[in-house]
Order: sequence, then C-alpha cells, then structure tokens
Amino acid sequence: MNKTTQKTKIIFTIGPATESEEKLEALINEGVDICRINMAHADHEWTAKIVKRVRAVCEKVGRHIAIMMDIKGPEVRTCDVEETFQLEENEIFYFTYGTGIGGTMPDGNRRVDVNYPDFYRDIAVGNTVLVDSGLIRLEVLSIDGTDVKCKVIIPGPLGKRRHINLPGVRVKLPSLTKKDQGDVDVGVDLNIEFFALSFVREPKDIDMLKNYISNKNSEAKVIAKIEDQQAITNLDEIIKASDGLMVARGDLGVECSFEELPTIQSRAILKCIEETKPVIVATQMLESMIDAPMPTRAEISDIANAIREQSDCIMLSGETTIGKYPVECVNTMNRIADKIEAEELTTRPAIREDIQLRLPKSKMLRSAARLAIELDAAIVVFTRKGLFPIKLASLRPQIPIYAFTDQPMLFKQLLLLRGVEPFFIDFVSDHEATIQKAFDALKEKKWSKKGDPIVVVTKMYAGDSLIDTTQIREI
Ligand code: PEP
Repeated sequence: MNKTTQKTKIIFTIGPATESEEKLEALINEGVDICRINMAHADHEWTAKIVKRVRAVCEKVGRHIAIMMDIKGPEVRTCDVEETFQLEENEIFYFTYGTGIGGTMPDGNRRVDVNYPDFYRDIAVGNTVLVDSGLIRLEVLSIDGTDVKCKVIIPGPLGKRRHINLPGVRVKLPSLTKKDQGDVDVGVDLNIEFFALSFVREPKDIDMLKNYISNKNSEAKVIAKIEDQQAITNLDEIIKASDGLMVARGDLGVECSFEELPTIQSRAILKCIEETKPVIVATQMLESMIDAPMPTRAEISDIANAIREQSDCIMLSGETTIGKYPVECVNTMNRIADKIEAEELTTRPAIREDIQLRLPKSKMLRSAARLAIELDAAIVVFTRKGLFPIKLASLRPQIPIYAFTDQPMLFKQLLLLRGVEPFFIDFVSDHEATIQKAFDALKEKKWSKKGDPIVVVTKMYAGDSLIDTTQIREI
C-alpha cells in the first residue's frame, strides 16, 4: 500500500482477532504503525510469541512497525463470583476483602471481595464506586473494618474480576505493581520500543518507570496514559516527564464526567504539541465496527476531530482484539485521515507558528521547514537521538518529513510521530555519502523521484568544525 502522504499514525491492539500471521500481514500492508500489547490480558509466553511473530511478518512484508507494551498499573478489581448475578436498584451490597468467592452473606445481603487490601482505607462515606466501566454505580454508606457497605444506584450484572473505578479517590496502590515489574522485565528482554503506563497520576510515576527500565539498559520510550482526575490535575507536569501521552478515553470517561472528555482531549493534544511530545487518542474510535463492517456517522466525526486537532496517533482497541473487521477498521481510519489531512492543506497554516522553540537548533529547523514549504519540497533530517524529527513533527508542517537514523530502536520509535517517515540506514563518516544514501533510499522506496527538491538539515564539516547546515538539494 502507498501511505506516502498520510500523516496520522495508527496503533492497533493485538488479540485473538489479529494474532494470526495472515491478519498481521494484512494489517501491516494496510498501514498500521504500532502494535499494542495490552498486559491486562496477556501472559508472558503469549507476549514473547506475538513479538516474535510481528517482527517476522514485518521482515516478510518489508515494512516495519513498532511494539508498545501497555502496562496495567494500579488497578482495583472485584474477585471471583460463582456465577454472574444481577445487582438490583437500592440493594445493599458489600465490598469485602479476603473472605472468598462472592455471594450471599448469612444476613441475606450480597458481597464481593476486591483485590486490594486497603480499599476500605482509601474510600470514604459518600464516595461513588463504579464497576465494569461504570455500568454499575454504587454509593458508599458506611465502612466497618474491611467491609464497605454500599447502596446500588444503577443496577447491572456483576461478573467475575470486573474493573472498579473510584472517581476522585486517590488509590494508594503503587504505580508499578509487582506484576507490572514482571511484565516490564519481559518487554525489556524482548527489546520492545514503547511502554505505556496505565493510570499515571503524577510525574514521579513516569520517572519511576524510566529509572526502572534505564537500570536495565532499555532505551524504550515511556508513554503516560491519562485515565483519571488526578492525571488531569497534573497534566502539564506529566507531559513534561513523559516521552508521549495517551488520552485513554475508556477510563477517563468513567473517572471524569463524560461531558468533560472533549475539553480534556483538546487540552491534552494542544499541550503535547506545545511541549513537542507525541500524543495518542485512544478508545472506542470505531467501537461499532467490532460487529459491523461500517462505522457509525458519529465515529467518523470522532476520528476526523482527532485528526483536525492534529493528534499524532489514533488507536484501535477492542476493534482489533476481538472485532470481526480489524483490517476494515484500519482502512476506515486511512480513508478519513486522507480526507481530513487534505482539507488541512487549505484550512490550516502550513506550519504552526504558535509553538515556542527554545534551542537555536530548533529555531533553525523551523526556518528549514518554512523553506521546504516555500519550495514545495520534502525535508530530510539525520538523527541519532530523535530531537530533530520530534521538534519538526510538533510544528505540523504541511510537507513530508523524512528522518534517517542508524539506530534500530529509534527508527521504530519515530513511527509514532505525525508526518514523520523514518528510514534506517548506516551512517558513514563522509556526510555527503550519507546524504546520497538517503536519497537512494527515497528513490528506491518510491517516496521521491529524480529531480524532486529536498531541504536537507545535517551536520557538515566547515574546516575542522562540525556545523549544522540547511541545504537546498535535488534528488
Ligand atoms: C482506556 O482506558 O481508554 C485505555 C486505553 O486503557 P485500557 O484499554 O488499558 O483500559
């Protein structure tokens, strides 16, 4: 497939619907950029098998994608019940700890254990308990020892191991649980490119994961998933501490009032662009396509909105883990992205002037991008740490950004950035030879043809000193 002009990147979550080699090949050919493994549902053996398979299929297809391991983080769940039972409106119901399989107590009231020993300490009378993405709502009436007595406000069926949200409550679970550490260790061993940490509440959660992986010599990037009110309060600092952000609308829409979601999304995207950090919009983008071959009109508009807001990535979850139409979902996103990005050419400035760039080098990049726009050229940068493509992507220029690196992990990490097409080549000591190698790669992969104008930003020797240069070249 030819995605030479598409700027918006696509993340898919792998699951039973997409784990086969055939489906992976179809998805990679359709243009997905990143494969997300959700560790809430994956064991280590399966994870290792999947990472190996994804990489093998990439080799076969000749197109590489990155892998993101999504770490569960602090999560409260109900424990087992013998079978799903219906909670009734106004029923008195107890959350307990350590009492065994849930069911009916001697006094006739019903209960279920939670997986978190300090549940009764963190919660207070009057708090709301939401079960199963908010499908069931309860209010805390009293707390007696470890027993939390509630009244059912919105009834619903209670199955085993359901996720619990406690809006506004500071849950004192560690940000990186023992299970998470085991998962991260596996991800580091597999050399995966991204870790996404769930329920990041403050910048130190990100610092902790960054320290943890750097002690293991991993160069993976760390993405903060914002999912609750505390994350929104600390949004700016979390963005600064992380390598990127995921607006995890699933939990966010339960932990916050749902009408706040659009404002939070817009604010998060803008702040990320300002801080030159990539941003992902996630969850229920094509939920109806889990069962249907066509999106709803509202879903089309939701995707269009994320692209108009200039999110780097849009993400698929259930649509590609258990959905019937995973490849069609990616195709749907591509079609919408093509249309909306084309509209952008006439409705938005050719480059964002509102982004403050502090370093002189970054300011040079902005003028190089302006020059490329003026010449209707693509821009080529060479990078070992990713700084140039990250800064350029944040300017959202309406020209292709081709980023060349000799670092295998960075090559795949650059796939997250809006409008950046990464290439992996060897750098040689003669800078001109490296530039020619880059041009050859562009021609070979049909991104450019002979005679195309290119603005190149690269280091060159001036006498004995190495200086940053901006050059007008032709392929
Ligand atoms: C979300 O809540 O939107 C999300 C992406 O996280 P998870 O799928 O892990 O619940």
